[in-house]
Amino acid sequence: MNITFPDGAVRQYDEGSTAMDIAKKISEGLARKILAAEVNGEVWDLTRPIKNDASVKFLTWDDEKAKSTFWHSSAHLMAEAIESSFPGVKFWVGPPIEKGFYYDIDLGDNQISESDLEKLEKKMRELVKQNSSYIRKEISKADAIKYFEEKGDEYKLDLLSGLEDGSITFYTQGEFTDLCRGPHIPSTGSIKGIKLTGIAGAYWKGDERNKMLTRIYGVTFPSQKELDEYLVFLEEAKKRDHRKLGKELELFTFSEKVGAGLPLWLPKGAMLRERLQQFLQKAQIESGYLPVITPHIGSKNLYVTSGHYEKYGKDSFQPIKTPVEGEEFFLKPMNCPHHCEIYKALPRSYKDLPLRLAEFGTVYRYEQSGELHGLTRVRGFTQDDAHLFCMPDQVKDEFKKVIDLVLYVFKSLGFSDYTAQISLRDREDKSGYIGSDENWDLAEKSIIEAAEEKHLDTVIEYGEAAFYGPKLDFMVRDAIGRKWQLGTIQVDYNLPERFDLTYIGEDNAKHRPVMIHRAPFGSMERFIAVLTEHCAGKFPMWLAPVQVKILPISDKFLSYAENVFSELKNNDIRAEIDDRSEKIGKKIRDTELAKIPLMLIIGEKEVNEEMVSVRRQGKGDEGVKSLHGFIEMIQAEVKAKSVYNATAKVL
Ligand SMILES: [Zn+2]
Ligand SMILES: [Zn+2]
Repeated sequence: MNITFPDGAVRQYDEGSTAMDIAKKISEGLARKILAAEVNGEVWDLTRPIKNDASVKFLTWDDEKAKSTFWHSSAHLMAEAIESSFPGVKFWVGPPIEKGFYYDIDLGDNQISESDLEKLEKKMRELVKQNSSYIRKEISKADAIKYFEEKGDEYKLDLLSGLEDGSITFYTQGEFTDLCRGPHIPSTGSIKGIKLTGIAGAYWKGDERNKMLTRIYGVTFPSQKELDEYLVFLEEAKKRDHRKLGKELELFTFSEKVGAGLPLWLPKGAMLRERLQQFLQKAQIESGYLPVITPHIGSKNLYVTSGHYEKYGKDSFQPIKTPVEGEEFFLKPMNCPHHCEIYKALPRSYKDLPLRLAEFGTVYRYEQSGELHGLTRVRGFTQDDAHLFCMPDQVKDEFKKVIDLVLYVFKSLGFSDYTAQISLRDREDKSGYIGSDENWDLAEKSIIEAAEEKHLDTVIEYGEAAFYGPKLDFMVRDAIGRKWQLGTIQVDYNLPERFDLTYIGEDNAKHRPVMIHRAPFGSMERFIAVLTEHCAGKFPMWLAPVQVKILPISDKFLSYAENVFSELKNNDIRAEIDDRSEKIGKKIRDTELAKIPLMLIIGEKEVNEEMVSVRRQGKGDEGVKSLHGFIEMIQAEVKAKSVYNATAKVL
């Protein structure tokens, strides 16, 4: 049979050869490195015979698909360890996740706590030493049912009820057999670094009316070294978790009484958020944006017109009704429909375009309570939203301007590692997209050229565009190497059509404008979460909710401290006095922990000489300065938007 490789080379192999056989013929080194193979675009076991001509791509640990296969195989290994420790437990599903895997298990009368995880890890390591192969077996539905009936596992029987005869496979490694469609790595021996990371409750099938199963999370690596590095990373990520820092730095809170997923901004968090908002607002006004304001609700009709009602109505917060007329309103899930109506409020001519309407608009989207996460998944959030209405030949210029704005935001906040992803139509099948071919071609070309002219490091993904237009997303890497999607710029041919938006062209005829959605931050909530984790709560001087903490050595110096405070306040510097009767060492430590950038120590010498002693967070003593000199120093740092060195100690 003919095997085609990714570079286009075609070679002949015996029918029934496995991907592993083929790899070994190429080189033993390759065979040792690979974990799975893509056969005709589908991930396969390396040990599964290939019976016809096929394309084959080998997958190594660096491949996301290989990682998933490795982690899913590790879930089987964990299940084997659990079954041998707790005979009679029943298994639901054990999928890979973004980083690792879990298995949902009905433990019956057994109890597992965090303290048992180490024992399970030890058991897994013992099993790894046996280096058992994951053996695939095609099985009839009747035999599969018989197996799990005998085992008494109603969960697997439930899974089987949804499967068709002829498509069912079992995988066995060591003593453990699972119903699974695969694929898996060849054997357990390559799982070298093992860590079980947590236990949670999970309703069967995610339905709270069902039984609560035990979900055990884990992560594994092909070497202990990689696991160790990952554990250091986890430790660092834990320290930076915005939920933890949000509490410690008094930025935001949640209240059960107010409701899940509805953040409450505390004064310090609100200060930070307002600074950010003012910063972007100023940059936007300089770039020709016009601020608009729209209400938090909109009539059902608005969302019927926009198409959101049909698409998301059932999964949204349900409508609010007026008591007398019974009119229906929805909490605003996005600002675009409102902005379309603002566009329509006046007759528009080509001379008015581009029209850039900006709003820090608060929207509400229903998320299941289990999906909520700190500030990154909430039910109410404020987008730094804007909609640009322009002519088709203005798309490129508008993209370039938005790219400039996004890069200015990244630079000002210390995000220096980013790439852009451009999502275009499917190359072959161009049906199913709204808008004319001509406009799509122009917009796609405009985005590609705009990205090139701005020297962005870009990847192009075909088939990833929304049905209503192509887009450009930024992927930002934070200080500890995690990737975040920020700053989407999205072309839209759909809403102008649905709202019948027009402008009078130079030819005196009516034309359809192009609409562009864009949000450099995405939402204030999510952005502040990302920023907090990126800079580990050490916000740059221009954003820090408190810039200076004044620390009098004793009460004797309080009145001088108060003079310093009011002088700072008069100069728009955000300061606080620590007037507790604590030792100065303790005051310094607490200020360090609060991540306030600067401290002023006030004692006998400072009062007599009318000076201040300056300390910087994380760096220490910076000597004595006149108050005037100190104020100038802060003002210069604010003006320069100096960024804290956000690089982590590790990685
Ligand atoms: Zn499996
Ligand atoms: Zn929008």
